[in-house]
Amino acid sequence: MQRIDQHFINGAFVASHGQHHANLHNPATEAVIGTVQLGDAVDAERAVAAAKAALPAQAARSVAERLAMLGRFRDAMAERQDALHAAVLAEYGAPSARSRWMVEHPVQVIDEAMRVLADFPFQRGVGQAQVHLLPVGVAGLITPWNSNASFICGKLATALAAGCTAVVKPSEMSALQTQVVMEALHAAQLPAGVANIVNGLGQDVGAVLSASPDVAKISFTGSTATGRAILRSSADTFKRVTLELGGKSPTVILDDADPQAAAALAVQAGFINSGQACIAGTRILVPESRRAVFEDALAAAVRAVRSGDPRDAATTVGPMVSERQWQRVQGYITTGIAEGARLLAGGEGRPEGLQKGWFVRPTLFTDVRNDMTIAREEIFGPVLCVIGYRDEEEAVAIANDTAYGLSALVIGSDEARATAVARQIQSGRVLVNTLRHEPMAPFGGMKQSGIGRESGAWGLEAFLEAQTLVVG
Ligand code: NAD
Repeated sequence: MQRIDQHFINGAFVASHGQHHANLHNPATEAVIGTVQLGDAVDAERAVAAAKAALPAQAARSVAERLAMLGRFRDAMAERQDALHAAVLAEYGAPSARSRWMVEHPVQVIDEAMRVLADFPFQRGVGQAQVHLLPVGVAGLITPWNSNASFICGKLATALAAGCTAVVKPSEMSALQTQVVMEALHAAQLPAGVANIVNGLGQDVGAVLSASPDVAKISFTGSTATGRAILRSSADTFKRVTLELGGKSPTVILDDADPQAAAALAVQAGFINSGQACIAGTRILVPESRRAVFEDALAAAVRAVRSGDPRDAATTVGPMVSERQWQRVQGYITTGIAEGARLLAGGEGRPEGLQKGWFVRPTLFTDVRNDMTIAREEIFGPVLCVIGYRDEEEAVAIANDTAYGLSALVIGSDEARATAVARQIQSGRVLVNTLRHEPMAPFGGMKQSGIGRESGAWGLEAFLEAQTLVVG
């Protein structure tokens, strides 16, 4: 049992003022493995005050000083990969390929922020003016449970690179992973107050950050519903906001695609992070002219997916993060059946042989209409929908008929044709015949998938304000 009862404020571990606690679970066994003490408004305000006091010095630090600071943070995270791996397995249950990525990615995102900072033009001449890009101020960074350390490290490194100071409010469900990040920050000996982390609930600690007049910017990753609440409360103080929200991403399989290769890629896109990914390709659009062959290939690919013990190398889908999430996913499977969708693989309940753990059967529905609940709402589990289309025009119309616009995938043998289809999809990111990610390109959503972009120079600019100087 691990007991986490301190926050990281003003460069030190401090006792929590908030006295309530939450249990931490191993989702593969349902066992309680620890507790986290939840901060309250007093803890949040202490962290904001520390960040505010540290801001003038941080804003004045040179690029070289900021790079040195981030380098120490990066090294401290790199030294803690084994500890982070143990936390990811115990608290999240990510299968081995994913859990390895989850411990390497935090180091990569700090490196990427450093690469951007090293050549970023903070001053630019524009006609007779000089434009200075200045740190926006204290940043509130609010993150979800599904890739905890990467989100904290990416947002924090970018805020510090911009010359901001920050208060992080991570998900209370990922406290073991957050503890590793706090220990890295402590070891990195950053100037006191530049980086603070407060454990707690969104309605308590998160709400203080989005309401505080001393916080100038919120960078949030999480659900669209929470993003909407944050946007509303940020309006009172005109905060700058970056919102990375949910998705219901389409995978468009064109009629010239190879069925086996297309099915393998589509299922990988749909089941990324055990289906608990904002970018998961959960609506698979197939041409009516070759529907049977694509359905067969997809069904075979989904049946071949192993959902179970995350420590087993053959497992690619691990448990849902919590009992609540398991119930939610089960509810969507029941709704899909009730609305008339037809199961090609999986269904309700746990995978065969598993009595414990929040495991879901990898599930594929067909005969799905785009107006059904399972095609409209983000399920956040390994549940995919097959939707038929008559021609390219209809495929694009169905792909775009969603409140979301975060990611999309187009699969086809004729790359030029697939790319032309991709260009018509209203989505912040569209992939063609690949799941490769470009970390220096902007990442973010159109429509209700968010506001603004992260990554690369776009990510850094989101923590800056332009000041135009014209001297007579
Ligand atoms: P969530 O919205 O429930 O919580 C995210 C964070 O917001 C948590 O730290 C939570 O405590 C906090 N929060 C909750 N209410 C708040 C409030 N009123 N004020 C301030 N903070 C509050 O999301 P989750 O369940 O942790 O994560 C899953 C969601 O995140 C999914 O919808 C997924 O699509 C989305 N997501 C988006 C991206 C992206 O880059 N677009 C990436 C990962 C996850």
